Amino acid sequence: MSNVIISVKDLVKKYGQFEAVKGISFDVYEGEIFGLLGPNGAGKSTSLEIIETLRDKTSGQVIVAGYNLDTHPEEIKKIIGVQLQTSGFYPGLNLIELIGLFAGLYNRKVDPKELLRSVNLEDKAKAKFKDLSGGQKQRFSIATTLINDPRIIFLDEPTTGLDPQARRNLWDLIKQIRSKGTTVIITTHYMDEAELLCDRIAIIDSGKIVALDTTDNLIDALVATGFERPKDIKKANLEDVFIQLTGHALREQ
Ligand code: ADP
Ligand code: MG
Repeated sequence: MSNVIISVKDLVKKYGQFEAVKGISFDVYEGEIFGLLGPNGAGKSTSLEIIETLRDKTSGQVIVAGYNLDTHPEEIKKIIGVQLQTSGFYPGLNLIELIGLFAGLYNRKVDPKELLRSVNLEDKAKAKFKDLSGGQKQRFSIATTLINDPRIIFLDEPTTGLDPQARRNLWDLIKQIRSKGTTVIITTHYMDEAELLCDRIAIIDSGKIVALDTTDNLIDALVATGFERPKDIKKANLEDVFIQLTGHALREQ
């Protein structure tokens, strides 16, 4: 049996009269990549931010690594890594300086060069955040989630706006983080990304979970209903053509 590291029960969030999260329940297992999928406005970020201790809930229960969110939010903060809005990075500081700043906030000693190496940014140590490409900015912000050596990291749409090479590079990084035993919760509305990355998926729509299972089980369940794709799918798609022609290598260095 897998260890439950996050348990969410009957979580509700109201903004005034509007119920953005309508009583969702799910468990996340230690060491998995758990995907929260859903259209814009479904309540993904709200749910994540509540678990991250950044937003108050209206009702329900959240337990993270045995700590109850209501009574031990400080303990939860210590063991999670949260991707900050990139606007939160002082644009004029270089990457080494920014890591020093975050390490100070977390009261942790880190080797900035080692951390940058882990996200393939060692060449950019002296670069300012504002001068990085989109993919580099995302990799750096993932690096900052790792500073406190967290057991769980939260990634809210980490690949939105990236080109295909940068997305693939980020997928590799996220898998690498999982391979070290870190639990990853990710939101996305790219289904290819979810299929490739996530061990299990919760699909959330208008504040409710409408499905929760492994990717394979979700697809098999649909097929079992007699569903068939309307026409034969080609053996490759346009993204395959693009990658074939332009390669996997990152273009941002
Ligand atoms: P998602 O991340 O899935 O796109 P969000 O959690 O950001 O969805 O938002 C869920 C719903 O809650 C949306 O309808 C959004 O407009 C609303 N919402 C989010 N934040 C606030 C807020 N601070 N005040 C009022 N409504 C909000
Ligand atoms: Mg969101």
